[in-house]
Amino acid sequence: MTDSILVVGSGIAGLTAAMECAQAGARTIVVDNAAIVGGRLAAAMTDESSIGAGVAGSAIPKLSTLAESEHIEFMTMATLERIQGRPGNFDISVRQRARFVTDACTRCKRCRPVCPSVSSNEYDAGLTYRKAIFTPLPQTLPQEYVIDIDSCLNKPPNYLPCNRCIEVCDDDAIHFDLPLDQLHERQVGAVILSVGFAIADTNRLNEYGYGVHPDIVTAVELQYLLTEPGPTGGYVAKPSNEEYPESILLIVDELTPFSAYTAISQIHQLVEQDIDKIALLITDQQDEKTQSDFVQALPAGVTVNQGLLQSVVAGPDNKITVSYADFASHHMPKNDYDMVVLSCEICPAKGLDELAKTVELKLDEAGFVATPISDQPCATSRAGIYAVGGACGSAILSDTVASAKAAATLALGHLDPRLLKPGFVPISQVAKAPDTDTPSEDELRARIERALYTLMDR
Ligand code: SF4
Ligand code: SF4
Repeated sequence: MTDSILVVGSGIAGLTAAMECAQAGARTIVVDNAAIVGGRLAAAMTDESSIGAGVAGSAIPKLSTLAESEHIEFMTMATLERIQGRPGNFDISVRQRARFVTDACTRCKRCRPVCPSVSSNEYDAGLTYRKAIFTPLPQTLPQEYVIDIDSCLNKPPNYLPCNRCIEVCDDDAIHFDLPLDQLHERQVGAVILSVGFAIADTNRLNEYGYGVHPDIVTAVELQYLLTEPGPTGGYVAKPSNEEYPESILLIVDELTPFSAYTAISQIHQLVEQDIDKIALLITDQQDEKTQSDFVQALPAGVTVNQGLLQSVVAGPDNKITVSYADFASHHMPKNDYDMVVLSCEICPAKGLDELAKTVELKLDEAGFVATPISDQPCATSRAGIYAVGGACGSAILSDTVASAKAAATLALGHLDPRLLKPGFVPISQVAKAPDTDTPSEDELRARIERALYTLMDR
């Protein structure tokens, strides 16, 4: 029996699960397609970030703590290519692409200015630009720079038409002679899929004015602005001129758990940054309870309206003029704002369908990983494979963290307890605690749930 667990995806769910597994003594392999670990919250996991301590009451692992863990192996720019076997004993193959920069890199920054290739920075929701050799954030894991070979002038079969970065790298960290990819074979007892979610096509936001004015942004773009050390150091600024906005309107078209959670947490951050006027427009008619629960979670002083959006247009003085048909008053108010923020919808992560084929998992109708066992919400259609957070469609951070901890506990149950740290009790053994009376099926299920919640609260 192996002592290892595979975690696919290194966002908050994957890293929480990895920390749980590592703390129990399991070797944990974290595989991510991106060049750095951390997913959307990577910037919040740095030592400098004050929100790294916790978001919505959920502790976020620090990159420095993760880097120090001897039990966690990170494979970035990597994908799971094959998995065979059964719970407790899976053989896996992971293909890892070259980053062309070795760990000799000291982040001296000399290479970046000389690189002639410029692309939009996908790690900042496209709000900034980057070079072909770059670091996605000021602090990353792994720490070395990376070359995006697709935008580098040396993309095969062009061999070395450009060596500007090599010429300035005194640490001999750049090597174009590395193999394009490598295959790693490992054995793991269980797999946790935490590939997160993607943001649905923003083209549908054009009807809300997206693209009309640079200060009309999506909620995801605002999150990058609010996250330190993001492109504006964690302070909201107008993309048109980097000035501080005095008034912001957030438009939410439907109160889904994701849109509501995002709007509430962002409004709290905006209030902390002393934005004078914060307004929220809900363009879908909600039942009274949903709306009152939502409004109660907002800080005082936020104006909340419900109405059908009529127009979002660029107004005078770099303002954005918004008009809507108010559901309650039947009037058509028209107001000017410095910034307008549009809510986004989530969809399955790119490549999830391919991954599901590789792992032989069922997806649900929306394309997220199906979790058919009602009392094990992380369990998928294949034994020993668990899915958490956005991979299953849930996007609320507290749910994501809770499901990651539960999945880690279930996954650890497939390893030999003798290989783990003393004191760890697999969930299967908690459920089988000795009892003089034979418990009923309902009692057994209740005990499992209680045990699970106890373990999740550790
Ligand atoms: S010049 Fe070399 S050491 Fe400096 S940041 Fe670039 S790759 Fe790293
Ligand atoms: S080889 Fe040229 S294009 Fe490629 S990363 Fe280096 S400087 Fe940029």
